[in-house]
Amino acid sequence: MFLQKLELQGFKSFANKTVLDFPGGIAAVVGPNGSGKSNIADAIRWLLGEREARNLRGGKNDDLIFAGTEKKARMGMATASLYFDNSSGFFPTEFKEVVISRRIDRDGDSKFFLNQSEMRMKDIVDFFAKAKLGARGLNMIGQGESDLILKSTPLERRELIEELLGLKEYLLKKNAASRELKNTFFNLEKARAQLAEIEPHLRSLRRQVSRWTKRDSLAEELRNIENSYYSGRVRKITESLRAFDPEIEKLDKEIDRLKNEEKALEQEFKKIEVSEPKAKKELEALRNKRRELFNKRLVSSAVPAERSKASIPAENDFKSLLKEIRELAEAALSSGLEEDPKSVLKKIVSLIEDMENAAEAQPEVQVVDGKLEEFNRLMDELDEEEKKYQIELDSFNKVFRESLRQVEAKKDEIEELDDKKQQLIFQKDKALFQKSELENQLRSISRKFEDFVGVAADMRMDERTAETRMMRLRAELSSMGDVDEAIVKEAEATEERHEFLSNQIVDLEKASADLKTLLKDLDFKIRNEFNVALKKINDELQSFVKLMFGGGRAELKLEKIRETTKDVLEAAGTLGEVVLNQEEAEEIRPGIEIDVVLPKKKIKGLEVLSGGERSLLSIAILFALISISPPPFLVLDEVDAALDERNARRFGELLKNYAKETQFVIVTHNRATMEAADVLYGVTMGDDGVSRVVSLKLS
Ligand code: ATP
Repeated sequence: MFLQKLELQGFKSFANKTVLDFPGGIAAVVGPNGSGKSNIADAIRWLLGEREARNLRGGKNDDLIFAGTEKKARMGMATASLYFDNSSGFFPTEFKEVVISRRIDRDGDSKFFLNQSEMRMKDIVDFFAKAKLGARGLNMIGQGESDLILKSTPLERRELIEELLGLKEYLLKKNAASRELKNTFFNLEKARAQLAEIEPHLRSLRRQVSRWTKRDSLAEELRNIENSYYSGRVRKITESLRAFDPEIEKLDKEIDRLKNEEKALEQEFKKIEVSEPKAKKELEALRNKRRELFNKRLVSSAVPAERSKASIPAENDFKSLLKEIRELAEAALSSGLEEDPKSVLKKIVSLIEDMENAAEAQPEVQVVDGKLEEFNRLMDELDEEEKKYQIELDSFNKVFRESLRQVEAKKDEIEELDDKKQQLIFQKDKALFQKSELENQLRSISRKFEDFVGVAADMRMDERTAETRMMRLRAELSSMGDVDEAIVKEAEATEERHEFLSNQIVDLEKASADLKTLLKDLDFKIRNEFNVALKKINDELQSFVKLMFGGGRAELKLEKIRETTKDVLEAAGTLGEVVLNQEEAEEIRPGIEIDVVLPKKKIKGLEVLSGGERSLLSIAILFALISISPPPFLVLDEVDAALDERNARRFGELLKNYAKETQFVIVTHNRATMEAADVLYGVTMGDDGVSRVVSLKLS
């Protein structure tokens, strides 16, 4: 038992609350024309999610609500509930009992409930569709719909079978895969075209960039050599510059120290200088004069040699000589001589005066001898004095010279250090010049001296080789021209795009291969299941035809399609190379034709069948179809109307055979059918225009 009960209130002619229990097996709904039997089938269809009032035999939704009669007021709302026993787990929900309720009011407000929870209609329809139930499926055959299958187009028949087999899901998947494959092909073509479009441009960009790639490596080499070369040079200059100042400073200190020493020595020297004996020069002059005088006296002497050691001059000469000596002595006295030689000179002067006086008194030369002797003695004494003085002068001179020498030596020492200092300053200037030269050089290659300070130099070549190499590299780089950043960027962007498109193509090719495989698999599954099912249906149909018509033959056959169409189908389905859109695919899908040959009748074809024959064939096909997938319940509204009693009995038998698997709710006027039923519901309508149900349980 699957369908448990149906509750109605305000639905069409069922104004009052009405409950129909379905105990299982076959429930027949019977009653006079217009009593409301079909309204029961309509209610079930409505509950299964029928949207169209037309399919519920109404013009508009309002027609579903009790319209009122002369004796009974109209109602504002129609409700209906269908109860299912779900202990078998037929519906994928944990509820043991599933109740679907629907409600509509005159404001057009329509609501669906699943076990009292409000649901969207779409969800309810999906809920039933998953269980292969539906308002228009093979579980609901309404009044006048018994020959539905005969009236359907071949393609509709095919779809009916596909739905019955649950292939709809696969077909939808196949269509989705086809659409996706078509999109994939489209995108693939697009990506290939885009790739083909950018490739020539990319090749040219690559050529340009590769030139600069070489440039990069040359520039890198140049930079490395520059780094090593210049950091080496910078280091040398910096180090040497660093060494100068302390050295110069040291020398400055040393020079200062020596200058102080020199100053002290000079002071000492000055002291010595002022201590020089004062009459030194005059004495010297006197001495010279005296020698000169003696020499003169000796030369011009008229005094005989035996008179004395010194010759006495002639009288006139003698006088003039004395005069000369006196003048000399007086001149010496007037100078600043020391005391002792002065006293000697004084004596000499007085002696000479005596001699002059004597010479005046006695013009005879004989004054004179004694006086001359005295003169000679005094002269000798003066010599002695001079000698002493000379010794003193000599010692002064020695000290003087020594002091002077020391001063000079100090000066030499200072000069030597100063030379050294000047030498260092010169070298420093030279180094500074080298530094500024290097700075200029670095500026010309857009680099800075500071960049290289403290950079460790790892020079693998000598400076000369490095200079030559740098020159060559610079020449080569300048001949290449500057890197055009815009082109490099464009090349990068184009490379990226190329890679993206290439990857996309690979992905799309993979996706397309996968989709083709999926399509092939789905197609095989659909075809295979369909063909297997069709054979089974035909086997069943054959036996039903034999049962119902007592012979003859009927067959559901795939339409014959033109060879060319078949090729396209083959290509679309199996090879998957040609992708057809849904309409194209549907167009060439072969539908189902019904081939029928009745016993004792020569003519074939559906058109020539009588009403009863049509009903019989329809019932045979319906049961053959449901035999491959029996529905849990089946509502049949007067499908047996055209059958005679014998055939109605056969129909009853058929129902009984199937009632084990399928629960039937059948609206009928047929006695034989009623006899097959397990329970009968009598529907009556009183003069108030309201349908009522009377239950007559038979078994
Ligand atoms: P038959 O045996 O001739 O097929 P039936 O028993 O199947 O008859 P139904 O077609 O179910 O009869 O019922 C039709 C009756 O229901 C009509 O009398 C019609 O007036 C009545 N009916 C339909 N809709 C409404 C409604 N909204 N309000 C009141 N009565 C309605």
